[in-house]
Amino acid sequence: MGTVTPLQLIELSRRALDKNIRSLKNLAGDRMMAVSVKANAYGHGLREIVAMMLDRSEVDYVAVHSLEEAIECRDAGWPRRIMILGPIPTDQADAVCEYDLEPVVFDTAALTALGRAGRKAGKQVLTHLKLETGTNRQGITEKDISRFAAIYKKYPQLKRPYGASMHFANIEDTTSHNYADQQLREFKRLVGLLGKAGIKPEILHTASSAALILFDKTRYDLVRPGISLYGYWPSKETYLSYRLLGGDNEIFEPVLSWRTTVTQVKKLPADSFIGYGCTYRTTAPTTLAVLPVGYYDGYPRALSNQAYVLINGRRAPVRGRICMNLMMVDVTDITGVSVGTRVTLLGADGSEQLTAGGLAAWGQTIHYEILSRISPAISRAIVE
Ligand SMILES: *Cc1c(COP(=O)(O)O)cnc(C)c1O
Repeated sequence: MGTVTPLQLIELSRRALDKNIRSLKNLAGDRMMAVSVKANAYGHGLREIVAMMLDRSEVDYVAVHSLEEAIECRDAGWPRRIMILGPIPTDQADAVCEYDLEPVVFDTAALTALGRAGRKAGKQVLTHLKLETGTNRQGITEKDISRFAAIYKKYPQLKRPYGASMHFANIEDTTSHNYADQQLREFKRLVGLLGKAGIKPEILHTASSAALILFDKTRYDLVRPGISLYGYWPSKETYLSYRLLGGDNEIFEPVLSWRTTVTQVKKLPADSFIGYGCTYRTTAPTTLAVLPVGYYDGYPRALSNQAYVLINGRRAPVRGRICMNLMMVDVTDITGVSVGTRVTLLGADGSEQLTAGGLAAWGQTIHYEILSRISPAISRAIVE
C-alpha cells in the first residue's frame, strides 16, 4: 500500500522479544530451545517474528503446526531447525525431507512415508516420537512401540527417533501439579521401553512455557516455549506458582500492540441507542468515537459492552455491539479526541496498559485465543 495510512496496525516490539528470549534462555540454561511460532506466531505475524529471531542464536528451533507454516518459515529465511508438531499426511513426506524439517510423529503411516522419502532422497530424517502420557490427544502408547520400532529399524534413514516428547494436560490451569507428575512418570516408563525395543532416542523434551518456567525436572534436553516468547505468562496460576517459588516479577514483556485511529466523532443526546440490537442506551449527552475495527479483524464480539480501549492515555468504554468492521467507544470524558486520534486496542498508552489477559477476562476466554485470532491481514510493523 506504500505510504497511505492503514486503518489499523500491529506493532511488534523488538526490545520486548529480545528480553523474553533472554529470560527464557536464563531458564533453559544450556538446553536447546524450540520456540512455538504456530498459529501465525500466536497472531503476531509468522514472517515478522521469524525475521526478528534470525540473529538470536539462543533459538535453535522454531516449532510449527503444519508443513505449510514450516515452508513459510523457510521462505522468511529461517536457516536453522524446524519442528512440526501437527499431523503429516503421507503425501507431505517428500517435502518434509526436501526442506529438512523434523516432524513429531505419532502414526505409523506417516513414519513409513518419511522412511520411504528419506530412502528416495538419500537423506537422514530426524523424527520426534510423541508419547501418550495422559493428555489423550496425540501420542503412542505402550502397545504401539513394537510396530514403531520395526519401522525405525527397516529404514536406515530413520534409524531411531531423534527425540521423544510429550505434552502436559494440566499444568497451566492449576497450582496442584499431581497430574503433571503422573504424566512425567509415565513418560519415563515409556522412554525406558523405547530403549528396550532398540530405539533409544537421543534427546527428550516435554516442557511448554508453564513447565519450563516452574519445573526443572521437565526441561530435559530441549524446551518448547510459546506464549512466554510473546511476553505473557501461561496463566495466573503459573505466575503465582513462580512467584511463590521466589521467581522474579519482570521477566516477560508483551511484544504486540494493536492500534487504530478514530475515524468519526459524534454527539448523541441522552436516551440514544447505540449499535445493532440497541443493547446500549445513553443516560446523558454522550460523545461517541467510531473505530474501524470489528470481529472480522479478530476483536471478539464477546467484548460488546465489556471492554475498554485507550485514547490519550485514558480508558474509553466499548458501547453497543462489536460489528463486523466497526466498533463504537464512549469518549465523553476524554479531551482532544478527533478524527485521526490514535487508539490502542491492546498495549500501552501513557500509564495505562491493555493486555491480552485483560481482554480475555472481559470476553470470557484465554489470552492464547485473543492473540492467535488477530487477523493476519492487518499490517505489521517492527518497532525498536
Ligand atoms: C503450543 C505448544 C507448545 C507451547 O505452549 P505454550 O503454552 O504456548 O508455551 C509446546 N508444545 C506443544 C506440543 C505445543 O503444541
